[in-house]
Amino acid sequence: MNRAFNFSAGPAALPTAVLERAQRELLDFQGTGMSIMEVSHRGSTFLAVAEAAEARLRSLMGISEEYAVLFLQGGATMQFSAVPLNLSTPGQTVAYVNTGAWSKKAIKEAGRYANVVVSASSEGENFTTIPERASWNVPSDAAYLHVCANETIGGVEFPEAPDAGGVSLVGDFSSTILSRPIDVNAWDVIYAGAQKNVGPAGLTLVIVKRELLDRARSDIPALLAWKGFADEDSMLNTPPTFSWYLAGLVFEWIEQEGGLAVMAERNERKAKTLYAAIDASDFYTAPVDQAYRSWMNVPFTLPDPGLDKPFLAGAEAAGLMNLKGHRSVGGMRASLYNAVGQDAVDALVAYMADFEASHG
Ligand SMILES: *Cc1c(COP(=O)(O)O)cnc(C)c1O
Repeated sequence: MNRAFNFSAGPAALPTAVLERAQRELLDFQGTGMSIMEVSHRGSTFLAVAEAAEARLRSLMGISEEYAVLFLQGGATMQFSAVPLNLSTPGQTVAYVNTGAWSKKAIKEAGRYANVVVSASSEGENFTTIPERASWNVPSDAAYLHVCANETIGGVEFPEAPDAGGVSLVGDFSSTILSRPIDVNAWDVIYAGAQKNVGPAGLTLVIVKRELLDRARSDIPALLAWKGFADEDSMLNTPPTFSWYLAGLVFEWIEQEGGLAVMAERNERKAKTLYAAIDASDFYTAPVDQAYRSWMNVPFTLPDPGLDKPFLAGAEAAGLMNLKGHRSVGGMRASLYNAVGQDAVDALVAYMADFEASHG
């Protein structure tokens, strides 16, 4: 078997041990003679899988019973609509910090349903930093303050929860959830598409303070209202059963590896390895402000965009896959999610040194 070093931003690498276990269990799940994809989501076999996954996620992240944990579909993008529809009244003020492409999309969607105030923006700095908290304008009557905890495209990460100025704090954690321990209690809503650090595409996690569930508008689609899902254990309709099952295996893998503290140690070391190599060279450049550099997504550029193609071709030949930067920023991007090992980063750094030596 030949597993590539996969730096994809999403859908992204999954732990090999998880895929092997899914493979072993695929045709005959726990002696049922059926795969987990082939049984009712309301039957005891799947319910046990679903409950175990939620319990493990709660334990890994330290999520109290004050929060509902929802297993949904529609991606983080659907939550861009669900957040204003569940938390604000029509035309009410909602506050957003604009730190990059995903913030912008969330802002645009919220503007369809509410009066968006952009509390702060780093667009003028080409999204390479986070504006100082003291400069933010968070109206006290805002229904909530929304931030993107990690900008997957720009590689800008909040190192900790910002001060929400007394309003509810909502975070898009799609590309940073489970990468390190966080203080869940600092947040009112955390949401994340699964395909970066949780499991396969098709599943979306929402962790929401139960006391907020009654704030939803009454006329929204049932499948966008968090309360219905909270009341029905995320089984308002057929959930993405296979993705839920696989996410449960990923949670179990993280637990066995030592939990989020161990993930954080590994992720910090991987990120440091790569940023240090970039900073030590005059050839590669990491554009993001050191204080806000993402552990998960590392964008970097070469001195001449004409070198991008040969860099990528050589990388692929060396088994280093999916390093092309997002089309909106160009250059390279290495995503270093939990399933990407230190060995992958070491191989990347060695390749980068070789490439610099032959092209610098
Ligand atoms: C990937 C991503 C999204 C979009 O997720 P979908 O599941 O494709 O809707 C939103 N926000 C962030 C931060 C992301 O990384």
